[in-house]
Amino acid sequence: MKESNPNDFLIEVQPLGGFDKPLSYSISKDLRHEIKVGSLVKIPLGARKLLGIVWSLKGNKPNETTQIRNIISLIHKVPVLSPDLTNLASWIANYYACSIESCLEAMIPKAVRDGMQPKKRRLVRLADSSKDYSQLTKRAPAQFSAIEFLRSQKEPVPSSTVLSKIKTSQNTIRSLVKKGIILESEENIDRVVYEDEYLDANEQIVHNLQLTSEQKKAVSEINEDLESRQFKTRLLCGVTGSGKTEVYFEAMQMALNQGGTILFLVPEVALAPQTVSRIRSRFKNEKIVVWHSHLASGERADAWRSIINEESKIVVGARSAIFAPLPKLRLLIVDEEHEAAYKQEDNPRYHARDIAVVRAKLNDATCLLGSATPSLESALNVQKEKYQTSKLSKRVDNRELPLIHLVDMRREADKTKVLPILSQQLVEALRDRISNKEQSILFLNRRGFNTTMLCPECGHVESCKDCSIALTYHRTDGYLRCHLCGYRKPAPNRCKKCNSFDLKKKGHGTQRIEDIVIGLLPKHASVRRVDADMMTKKNLFRETLSDFRKGKIDVLVGTQMIAKGLDFPKVTLVGVIDADLPLRMEDFRASERAFQMLVQVSGRAGRGNRAGEVFIQTYAPHSPSIQFARKSDLKGFTEDEMDMRKEFGYPPYQHLIRHLFRSRSESKVEYYANEWAKILENKNIAGLKIKGPAPAPLEKIKGYYRFHFFYFTASVKKTIKNLGLIRSEFPLDPDVHDILDVDAQQIG
Ligand code: ADP
Ligand code: ZN
Ligand code: ZN
Repeated sequence: MKESNPNDFLIEVQPLGGFDKPLSYSISKDLRHEIKVGSLVKIPLGARKLLGIVWSLKGNKPNETTQIRNIISLIHKVPVLSPDLTNLASWIANYYACSIESCLEAMIPKAVRDGMQPKKRRLVRLADSSKDYSQLTKRAPAQFSAIEFLRSQKEPVPSSTVLSKIKTSQNTIRSLVKKGIILESEENIDRVVYEDEYLDANEQIVHNLQLTSEQKKAVSEINEDLESRQFKTRLLCGVTGSGKTEVYFEAMQMALNQGGTILFLVPEVALAPQTVSRIRSRFKNEKIVVWHSHLASGERADAWRSIINEESKIVVGARSAIFAPLPKLRLLIVDEEHEAAYKQEDNPRYHARDIAVVRAKLNDATCLLGSATPSLESALNVQKEKYQTSKLSKRVDNRELPLIHLVDMRREADKTKVLPILSQQLVEALRDRISNKEQSILFLNRRGFNTTMLCPECGHVESCKDCSIALTYHRTDGYLRCHLCGYRKPAPNRCKKCNSFDLKKKGHGTQRIEDIVIGLLPKHASVRRVDADMMTKKNLFRETLSDFRKGKIDVLVGTQMIAKGLDFPKVTLVGVIDADLPLRMEDFRASERAFQMLVQVSGRAGRGNRAGEVFIQTYAPHSPSIQFARKSDLKGFTEDEMDMRKEFGYPPYQHLIRHLFRSRSESKVEYYANEWAKILENKNIAGLKIKGPAPAPLEKIKGYYRFHFFYFTASVKKTIKNLGLIRSEFPLDPDVHDILDVDAQQIG
């Protein structure tokens, strides 16, 4: 072991790989000013050499602690993490009950963790361009041509260029370098991540808009937040088409003026092509990094480097971009903050919106959350005055919100005795649009996990009294089950409410709807479908949206993924085929999701000069979320839904932690879930409400059987700590695994 010097300086390093705690190391005096919190270093650990992140700087090393080892080397001059990110990693590990290592894996791209260097190219130039080399003409004609070519160049050129121009080999260059006639240098090449792959040539982006008075007010409120240089969170609550993006831009300009950097989060980059191109065209002089899942590892490493080197001041991306190591972070924007897509469903299971708030706090920065349909979590934070709020209540140019029709599908069912897919009204409206050369969108919902029971006569849904969620039907045993508390009862033959016999359930894919629509419309109408499968084919998806914008498609059929933030001015009709599906889902957020979906979807209609019309097909026209959505009554919906959440102690009043057990063995997973339940009962943890065990809605995934518990608590950190202690004394069978999901969004 290397003997360390008493003058050495003590630091803590978090190893990458295999150790979940920072360890002490020392550094020699000469590295003292080069090593910073967040630096990537190489360390000895046992017999291994590992990379690690400098976690903290401790001070001079006391003489007696001689067993502390020196680091091996400093890998990057510039820290790979900004100091706030090391704090954030610790925070996430504590709150989400995950390892620091999993946080660092999420934070630092693999290419960087592997110590990857930028791609370089060799440049060559003439050492002395005034010298005459004509004596080489005969002896070494290739060398002479190379020299003459370089003489004609003003700047150093890549050696590959020389080779291709004079058709010679590396040897020529090598011998000239040896002789000192030409000089070599190296240059990093950026694998281009700034190029605008999204900008659509046909897209017109208007600059220098005259802000509306509401926009001006919001901008000045946000400017005050920024000027205070204190941690602030503001919810920008603006109806669809109210011009939230312009407000973001003004705030971004202000943050840039302050010398700060900006993080702009969107739920899914592929769904925000317009936002990305608008940001690019508005901030033309900025190198903007678009951080998304399709980046190749080299591109990712380069993007990363341009961020830590402070070349890029604006990063746009989906949830994982929340970890972009921007120094001097002044502003974090979370667009469509209500989107469940911000929750990471793998370790670390963080919520990017909540992390944005924490990160703003660590930087004394401003966090701006925007939505037309804010999450109840954010709404409650506004009530508690943890967040400030700004409102945009009108569409720009006073464009009207679309006219919303509810189509009562129970009546449609009467006529034919089979559940129809499209109502007569919607079909007529579609035909109308075709003859007027206007565009339409038809929305279809994601199906629930299982079959729930809906009465087509009266719209009644069988639900659990204790949990207020829809019960699901299990074909195997004919029982209805609650997936929160485990309650079950035999499925009824008749509707409990109206006594009808006909409790049937049906779902339809986008493909089916597309076929039906094609059959109902004149031949010349162009109908296209976008669905989840298409998302994997990035270009196909983009081309379809672009064709739609150009008017090449009359009717677009898709799931609610096309509802997010897209702006198609020529759309005058939106049809929602099955508004009830989210309501029937076995999730206490079903109403919230249904309301958000309906408002967002309706927001796609009438964004141009022509007014829009929306048809919502439903079997439950009386249900509150549908009624509130029809009136675009956000306040009414929020109050109503908050009451329910409060009564049942659901989020946002309490945090929800989901505890999932899984195993290939059904009997083992059930046994251990029940054993765990007994232990919890004995321990009787104060302030913790427990539901379960119950089979998860998706009882079996990829051969794994799944059971879960739901914990409701006011304090996540306390609960995680308590559960951790109890859990450490509860040995699980090696075939059974468990996962904690803090602030769980998905309960399938
Ligand atoms: P939101 O995100 O609130 O739904 P957008 O920011 O997409 O709305 O704005 C909707 C449309 O209104 C965009 O085409 C935008 O260019 C335009 N717009 C925004 N602000 C103004 C304004 N002050 N005057 C005129 N048009 C505006
Ligand atoms: Zn009924
Ligand atoms: Zn229940």
